Amino acid sequence: MNMEEPTNCNRCQASLERGCSQTFTLDGELKETICHDCARRERLAEWQATSTITTRLMSDAAMPRSILKPVYDAVNRIQERVKLFDLQVWRSGLSQHLAQHKERGESLEYNGLKILTFVMAGRVMITLEDDRSSLTLITAEDDPQSRMGIQGIDAREHQAHDLLERAMHAWRIGLRPQPDQEVRVLGM
Ligand SMILES: [Zn+2]
Repeated sequence: MNMEEPTNCNRCQASLERGCSQTFTLDGELKETICHDCARRERLAEWQATSTITTRLMSDAAMPRSILKPVYDAVNRIQERVKLFDLQVWRSGLSQHLAQHKERGESLEYNGLKILTFVMAGRVMITLEDDRSSLTLITAEDDPQSRMGIQGIDAREHQAHDLLERAMHAWRIGLRPQPDQEVRVLGM
């Protein structure tokens, strides 16, 4: 056994046979090797300190009974508003708008809010972002059965709600994204 491959978690001593998470210093030195549970606990602590939901945290919280139940609940509340965005924007013209343009990427800027759309292999990704937060949604290009979901997030809960509200407002007042070569794959 060498220092590079510890067999037990540096924090709780649990066996690492089911995988581990490593952290490095800025110089690239291995700092710590910890188990997935300790890594999740650390992300939970980060969330409690900053209330920022990240994509990683969202997948950690995908199970309602996990220690991340509060994050799971927050993501579900955001998902409820995504449903509204799906109905009021995507199914109320954005889908047709993108189909007509046949451009892979489009963008719109309004009062500090950026809306970026990207179509690839039958999937549509829509990123809503400002200088503090971002939310990327995903849906199918032309399948009315498809339900819009959250692909990526880096936002506090209220910021995510705010991004969605502002995007719905921009759509309601008639603003439309325009073809933009700069927009590439988003939220990945
Ligand atoms: Zn551990």
